[in-house]
Amino acid sequence: MKKIITTLLVLGIALAFIGNVFATEHADTYFIDIKIGKSYPYDEKIKVEATENIMVYNKSNKDLEVLDLNVNSLLITYFPTGRVDVYSSDSILLYSMAGDGSVLLGTKSGVEGVLTIAGNRYRGYVTLINGKEVYNVINHLSVEKYLYGVLPKEFPTSAPIESIKAQAVTARSFSYSNMNKHIGEGFNLCDTIHCQVYAGYDGENVNSNRAIDETKGMVVTYNGKIAETVYHSNSGGHTASSENVWRSKLDYLAGVEDPFSLNTNGSNWSFTMTKAELSQRLIAQGTDVGQVTHMEILETFPSGRVSNLKIVGSNNEINITGANLRTILGSTLLKSTLFSVDTGTVKVERPLFILSNTATTIINPEENLSVMSNNSVQTIENKNVSILSANGISKVNTVIETNSDVITFNGKGFGHGVGMSQYGALEMSKAGFTYDQILKFYYTGVDITTINR
Ligand SMILES: [Zn+2]
Repeated sequence: MKKIITTLLVLGIALAFIGNVFATEHADTYFIDIKIGKSYPYDEKIKVEATENIMVYNKSNKDLEVLDLNVNSLLITYFPTGRVDVYSSDSILLYSMAGDGSVLLGTKSGVEGVLTIAGNRYRGYVTLINGKEVYNVINHLSVEKYLYGVLPKEFPTSAPIESIKAQAVTARSFSYSNMNKHIGEGFNLCDTIHCQVYAGYDGENVNSNRAIDETKGMVVTYNGKIAETVYHSNSGGHTASSENVWRSKLDYLAGVEDPFSLNTNGSNWSFTMTKAELSQRLIAQGTDVGQVTHMEILETFPSGRVSNLKIVGSNNEINITGANLRTILGSTLLKSTLFSVDTGTVKVERPLFILSNTATTIINPEENLSVMSNNSVQTIENKNVSILSANGISKVNTVIETNSDVITFNGKGFGHGVGMSQYGALEMSKAGFTYDQILKFYYTGVDITTINR
């Protein structure tokens, strides 16, 4: 009996182990096509180099090399007829292959290899496909290795490891949930801010690579589907609900109170702008209210972010959303819509004039007035001077209130505020939270699971 239990236990452990192996190996079988660099005119050749022989592979069966080109430096170009020509570095035609992305160039090491493409190093494979009047360079590689070149651009690599791991899982989830973003153009994602900035092998960092390896294949899911793991720099103390920013409501992108983002780098900000400049900026965006005289927040969302505000000008007044004002002023100046405005009045002191038969004496605001009576000399601050006349006592108005010609914006946070706050994640990590705790704090009700498509 004891033996059976032991056997079952061993079997159980073995199965659990196989399960893990499957899960992690599985993650490596997912590949992605990234458009790298600029688009090229048809007659331009691109240099491809490696430290070992360059081979031809079929995308559908990369374990099997089609041809060893026996060179480690070559030139490739795309012909609008739909083929890719491969030349030796002295321009001798070595090979012609299909220009539909189904044939790849890689090194002898295949998925583990590194190619230098137009001077920058990339892991995996390369191919060329047609664009509009141009051709595009596609880097074909595993999602995990793609993330190596993404993460250092998204998050500080010197941050505590659990926060980098949280960002690794959001970047991975984004990659999988946006696989169709450029599918009509023949690839998955581009390497710019439009998708995720990807810097290839040269952009990698040992800390972020470690964070990717330690979360291999892990994604954020909600009700079994990969979540849209949007994030921003700093929530300013409360994240925003998705429907308050983009109209579409996703339950896991609900605003949460976020004490971790308070009093961190850049969490509080302030700037002033003259009303004249605001008037000009509005005109430049096609909204002419005349000279801006006043500005007032009408409505805020539960997170405290500005929903609607009123701008009053000499010609008319407008209602504008906080998000639209952020677009008009620029997202680096108006760092978030979590702000208040001060268009208040300022007090101005004026000099006092004393007229006699012979001269006018000016008493400036910083000077005091001396009055000589029968008994003594008295000193009076010039803003407290009253005059006694036949009609009574009247105060001399040397202090007047005037409309300030500047507006002061006081705000918190940086970015749209939806999903994970990167500064908050960093602070949570410092406080001892793990990457999955960080993710579950910012994405309400989600699971962290291994990718399985
Ligand atoms: Zn893109």
